[in-house]
Amino acid sequence: MPISNLIIIGSGPAGFTAAIYASRAELKPLLFTGTEPGGQLTTTSEVENYPGFEDGIQGSELMQKFRKQAERFGTEVVDAKIDKVDFSSQPLKVVSQEKEYQARSVIIATGASAMWLGLESENRLKGKGVSACATCDGFFFKNKDVVVIGGGDVALEDSASLTKFANSVKIIHRRDCLRASRIMQERAQSNPKIEFIWNTEVVEVLGENSVEGILVKNNKTNKESKIKCEGVFVAIGHKPNTEIFKGQIDLDKKGYIVPKEQTKTNINGVFIAGDVSDFKYRQAVTAAGMGCAAAIDVEKYLEDQEPAQEQTKNKNC
Ligand code: NAP
Repeated sequence: MPISNLIIIGSGPAGFTAAIYASRAELKPLLFTGTEPGGQLTTTSEVENYPGFEDGIQGSELMQKFRKQAERFGTEVVDAKIDKVDFSSQPLKVVSQEKEYQARSVIIATGASAMWLGLESENRLKGKGVSACATCDGFFFKNKDVVVIGGGDVALEDSASLTKFANSVKIIHRRDCLRASRIMQERAQSNPKIEFIWNTEVVEVLGENSVEGILVKNNKTNKESKIKCEGVFVAIGHKPNTEIFKGQIDLDKKGYIVPKEQTKTNINGVFIAGDVSDFKYRQAVTAAGMGCAAAIDVEKYLEDQEPAQEQTKNKNC
């Protein structure tokens, strides 16, 4: 069985940027897309904050461009997910559809998935007023009324950033106290555009082709009521896609991969890029930057693995 120089797991901005750099370095990487080729960006509509596209670009079109660019330099893209990995010895092994692949290095760029409420109406109106990314979509809600679901730092941070555009922001939280840090709470509570609605859960997102409001229930009184809004921002956390690495790669208590040093992990030859270890920035452009860094680190790692005489030969030419 041939041993690849590099297998990249994941097809978001991190994975494809790693592939562009690695294939230009002639590492001939093999990239597995996973079940959501293109990653989270393919579930948003217009992307206006990716540099280089002054008029904005649809998320799925942007990811098609990433893919074509990676393929142009020789990345082999496999439209399948990795079911299992074995990083206990070299070569590193990954299994997809019962077929084993071996590589000298692996970049994990499996990303994270936004957590959703799980309502049919929420799913139907995603990209039509329902969003999990205020940084990406807030701009589209100029002078509109929006709600944010959640009581953590992200919900409060999103609410604050949304007040720059929206007319009003209502934070719908299922309890009567916030999980968010004190400073974020103080800022939100002193912002005149933000209103808190406590002990309240969303029953349904209202609207046929775009969001017109939400139906909520007070979980103390069981009373239902409607709130008019044009945007619903779900900020109830993200889940890193790290299930298959449990027990092999160091994860924190929320499941994010803990970097050992920059893009390196606790396993020699296994590197990381993007939201799978970054719960703070979570932007396409930061993920792409990490993908670039991981590919450069892989190139150096593989060079360091070469026998001494090979290195001398390379240096002489
Ligand atoms: P989080 O801290 O886990 O908060 C999630 C919030 O969503 C909680 O208030 C939770 O309610 C609520 N929630 C969860 N599932 C829900 C459901 N099914 N229905 C309704 N509400 C639900 O997540 P996060 O806000 O995304 O933050 C992630 C991490 O990043 C945190 O550690 C956070 O501190 C960190 N962060 C830090 C900063 C900063 O320091 N500036 C900024 C952003 C994020 P309960 O409270 O009732 O559980």
